[in-house]
Amino acid sequence: MISKRASDFTSFIVMDVMAKAEELERKGENVIHMEVGEPDFPTPKVITQAAQEALLNNKTRYTHALGLLELREAICDFYHKEYHVNITPDQVMVSTGTSPALLFAMLAILDHGDEVIVSNPRYPCYQNFILAAGGKIKDVMTYPQEGFQYRQRDIKKMLSPRTKAIVINSPSNPTGIVMTREHMENVAEFKKQYIISDEIYHGLVYKERAHSILEFTDKAFVINGFSKLYAMTGWRLGYCIFPKEFSKVMQRIHQNFMISANGFIQWAGIAALTKAKKDVDKMIKIYDKRRQYMLARLLKMGFAIHLEPTGAFYVFADAKRFCKDSYREAFNIIEEVKVGVTPGIDFGSCGEGFLRFSYANSLENIKEGLDRLERYLLKYF
Ligand code: PMP
Repeated sequence: MISKRASDFTSFIVMDVMAKAEELERKGENVIHMEVGEPDFPTPKVITQAAQEALLNNKTRYTHALGLLELREAICDFYHKEYHVNITPDQVMVSTGTSPALLFAMLAILDHGDEVIVSNPRYPCYQNFILAAGGKIKDVMTYPQEGFQYRQRDIKKMLSPRTKAIVINSPSNPTGIVMTREHMENVAEFKKQYIISDEIYHGLVYKERAHSILEFTDKAFVINGFSKLYAMTGWRLGYCIFPKEFSKVMQRIHQNFMISANGFIQWAGIAALTKAKKDVDKMIKIYDKRRQYMLARLLKMGFAIHLEPTGAFYVFADAKRFCKDSYREAFNIIEEVKVGVTPGIDFGSCGEGFLRFSYANSLENIKEGLDRLERYLLKYF
């Protein structure tokens, strides 16, 4: 029999949209994908070359459970250079993506029935990581006019002696919004809870830089990885930075559940951190062009954008003028004009009435997708 816990795991609603897209494509339809949260660029050559070299040099064994020391040192250097924070390799655990890193962070801090604060809307997997570790989610509403940022007083109202952590994600999926220094300081003021900061979209910023939570508090777990910035989703490489006292326990957790991350891919990770800046800069310039184009078009069509998204590769557009039921609308759109978009409800009840558009697609495709959407809106609204 399937466990109650496993039955309670929610699935990504966007998968339903993707399944519909696939069904249409099998029938020969041309679908424009603006629902996917995955870079469309190939992984930079300096990275693939490093992986090839590592393979040829037989870097094909288990590594230290926390990850190759050389990679952990490169991560420490990177955080020092970017954020002027001092961390040491014993505070870093490298894993096969940020996803397992998040799960292991939850396992390290939660006992059965402990609570974790998450914002609504949010990345939909958070609740399942918390659930898997025996925790409970405490949903805090956020509002579009405030860039979907936590109100400190709303967090305070949710706190209980069992609240162990508060999750933040900047730049955010789904909103693309980057937390300001003040937003970060407000969250870092909670001293009894750990701040779990998902920094996977760091680097993908088009105006102001993103702050790391480590600039404001040491009582934090940082989750970061290579999937987005380096266009490495399929490689599966990410990491967690944690307070020193967790070093032994994180090592034990990883040893047991993973043994280690893939050896040759960790060598590629070093190349990403040390040699791929030029490639990353090129991708960022292109993302920014698409972002500006998409924003202008969506506004012209009548979507509301309450605060300019300046990070990640998403626009979370207020579609309440056109729809109340974002799930139904996303399906109407894909069926009628063959454009994939993610319904806002995927990210929580506060996302209802919104649609998430990803600009991880070529400008040409984005233009075609938005032309089709415009025709659809003109026909029905
Ligand atoms: N956090 C956020 C906010 C994400 O959008 C994603 C990927 N969609 C992840 C974590 C997981 O990334 P990965 O496991 O590929 O590192």
